[in-house]
Amino acid sequence: MVQFQIQWVGTPNYTSGRGGRAPVAIVDHITAGLYPGTLNWMQNPAAQASAHYLILQDGRILQLVRDEDTAWANGYVERPTWRLYDGTNPNRYTLSIEHENLSGGHLTEAQYQASLWLHKQLIERWDIPISRDTIIGHNQIDTVNRPHDPGLEFPWNRLFLDLQEWQGGEQGVETWKEQLVAQARQAGLITEYHNPDQAAPKWFVLAVALNLLKKLGK
Ligand SMILES: [Zn+2]
Repeated sequence: MVQFQIQWVGTPNYTSGRGGRAPVAIVDHITAGLYPGTLNWMQNPAAQASAHYLILQDGRILQLVRDEDTAWANGYVERPTWRLYDGTNPNRYTLSIEHENLSGGHLTEAQYQASLWLHKQLIERWDIPISRDTIIGHNQIDTVNRPHDPGLEFPWNRLFLDLQEWQGGEQGVETWKEQLVAQARQAGLITEYHNPDQAAPKWFVLAVALNLLKKLGK
């Protein structure tokens, strides 16, 4: 069994405290860039960007911002599909994990195991339920500018299955619903992961209809 540990690296890019809020969800990201450049960027004041954690491809876990403080990871919101978004800055009530990878890349096995371990730590520490509303992708906060963050290759199903097995409960979405979403994606009706239990806004219904028409060659 590999022993994981968190290495503090820090960054000036954060806001002290959380404005009275507590974390209610974990947001998973992909850096779309490699270490050390991606860390240097998040430590550069000009970037005005950061995350609480950065998981490297070799499985190392770096911490830039304390859980109790606000990281600058998803302040910009556009057409969100996240059900717990309440109209205020999501950075205030989320914990953000960046994964070192090129856009569209697969996590390494060491990186996946480190991420799984970190998710468990944060779930226990902050009492975060294992659900598609409380463990989300950046794309669910900004569907317009971040559609591929963390991207289609992010191992959501594996992560949820491992977390559910760890917790030993019946939480989470049933497999058949997930399979339906996966089939719709393979068929080209949708282009992103979507929470099968989530209500669909009009733009989403229309997008699916247009994708279907395109498939039919109309
Ligand atoms: Zn992101």
